[in-house]
Amino acid sequence: MESRPGAAAKGVTRLAPSPTGALHLGNARTFLVNWALARRNGWRIVLRIEDLDGPRVKPGAIEGTLRILEWLGIDWDDGPLIQSRDLGPYREAMEALARAGVVYPSELTRAQIEALAGVNEEGMAAEAASAPQEGTREIVFPPSLRPEIGPRGFDREDVNWRLVVGPGEVSFEDRFAGPQRFDVSRTIGDYLVWTKRGQPSYQLAVVVDDARAGVTEVVRGDDLLESAARQLLIYRALGVGPVPSYWHLPLVRGEDGRRLAKRHGDTRLDRYRELGVRAERVIGLAGWWSGIIQDRAEMSPGEFLRRFNISTMPGSAVVFTGEDEAWLLNGR
Ligand code: GLU
Repeated sequence: MESRPGAAAKGVTRLAPSPTGALHLGNARTFLVNWALARRNGWRIVLRIEDLDGPRVKPGAIEGTLRILEWLGIDWDDGPLIQSRDLGPYREAMEALARAGVVYPSELTRAQIEALAGVNEEGMAAEAASAPQEGTREIVFPPSLRPEIGPRGFDREDVNWRLVVGPGEVSFEDRFAGPQRFDVSRTIGDYLVWTKRGQPSYQLAVVVDDARAGVTEVVRGDDLLESAARQLLIYRALGVGPVPSYWHLPLVRGEDGRRLAKRHGDTRLDRYRELGVRAERVIGLAGWWSGIIQDRAEMSPGEFLRRFNISTMPGSAVVFTGEDEAWLLNGR
């Protein structure tokens, strides 16, 4: 796996939607900010469809995701790369990790691990094969359950494989969220890089894809902050680069302070589009949430881009309210 020569000249970023059909207002805001940061800084934008991340993708979901990005006026330079189309690069990465003796197959079930393991500080417990969004419960895999390790072949695709996570902190400077440190051995321990579904986990797929696209800037919601530490461990284990800079942005939350989800009503972009809400309203709301404008107002994508300034982005979560919903629905 080599990064593309010359790709890092001015920077490369990616938009990485999961085509679940559930892109909501918070995703719109993150994507618009990612896009504007890229266009203002002259970064290339790679579009990647993360269809390995989560439940099976329904027919038409990928087209639906592209339609939503286009509706928002977001464009890109390369892709879409659709992860499921070619598992070859992920297998190659697994072979390299297996040869290096830093991964191992593990047939322990979740129930077995749970019975044998502790739970982490947030009281979480669950296997994260997909992106561990806030509220995901994760098991801490204790080193005592790790088998004898050593160089080997990647000889079975139908079992879970884990990365050996040594003790100690991973630290990095987030370009938006500031200095970060995580002790991955305490928050999750040896985590999944390959799943028994015959696919890479979210963490492995992201690193393989970002490295081969020469991604230098990762912009996403701050529920993935800790994932950055996990991903940095994979960069190290594979010895690939470029290792990106991270920009983790505060999420849009509901009035109860929790991440935007069904419980806050239907905030899917598809729904607004189908109801005839103008994209300019959604963009304007995202602009207001990003400190570009002082109150709700319609904005074109071009205006969002022209006026965007990362230094006016609020440093903490913004809240989606009933007034926001009413304002959106008035714009029909
Ligand atoms: N596909 C992930 C999501 O939609 C994004 C992962 C990432 O940006 O690394 O949450």
